[in-house]
Amino acid sequence: MGATLEIRNLHARVAGEERMILRGVNLTIVQGEVHALMGPNGSGKSTLANVLAGNPAYEVTEGDILLDGESIMELEPDERSRLGMFLAFQYPVAIPGITLANFLRAAINSRMKAVDPESKGISIPEFRRLMRAKMDGLSMDHSFAGRYLNDGFSGGEKKRAEILQMAVLEPKFSILDETDSGLDIDALRIVSEGVNALMSTNLGVLVITHYQRLLNYIRPQHVHIMFEGQIVESGGPELALKLEESGYDWVRAKHATPIAE
Ligand code: ADP
Ligand code: MG
Repeated sequence: MGATLEIRNLHARVAGEERMILRGVNLTIVQGEVHALMGPNGSGKSTLANVLAGNPAYEVTEGDILLDGESIMELEPDERSRLGMFLAFQYPVAIPGITLANFLRAAINSRMKAVDPESKGISIPEFRRLMRAKMDGLSMDHSFAGRYLNDGFSGGEKKRAEILQMAVLEPKFSILDETDSGLDIDALRIVSEGVNALMSTNLGVLVITHYQRLLNYIRPQHVHIMFEGQIVESGGPELALKLEESGYDWVRAKHATPIAE
């Protein structure tokens, strides 16, 4: 069996606020599996992605996140990343003056230095070979690496840059939070082709989406529905089809917390 990412009874809220957003999330992902997390707006999907990444804006009050049986709860985002977690940014920042290649090389070097402080990092020829191989694997034009990071990138190009990062960093687990808006069919295709191409590296994926259409491209074995901060339904791909046909009303009817009188 591959590595596991285990979310146990996770409770979280915005730091400094009282209201709980995640109210006991349980989910285990094994490397090589694709899980889809769906659910109505406001149910806590993006909060879960942020908490997994270690975003300090959120506070965990109970529960644990384990990577291969070890808690990563106390680790900083970059430490989590070095252990093999990858979170795709929903709104990637533009960095004019830094090419995508420079950015990726810096990312690789910082990882190598974290493992061995004496490391001189990846050599330029070696890095070039790696980039080319990864870009070929994703059918990307080599010129793409020479562009300034996200500067004037179209939605689809940002997605491409994100997928290339993922290919270069070779995470064990990727969390892709695809917002409901802004992903056109092209971008959906890029993301899903990228993810599918990387599945051969034994990637574990949690793809978060409000809509079923992404799942026409990325085919999850497991589908979960989040509602009011908990995973209330889990099943196979048929669960996503049910949502496509019937929407979320039945989920609300079945799981809504009764309002106290
Ligand atoms: P989803 O991604 O499922 O639409 P979110 O996790 O974005 O849901 O949001 C869940 C709830 O938590 C919403 O009520 C949202 O307003 C609130 N929330 C999430 N993040 C923040 C934040 N940084 N500050 C204030 N409220 C937040
Ligand atoms: Mg969201």
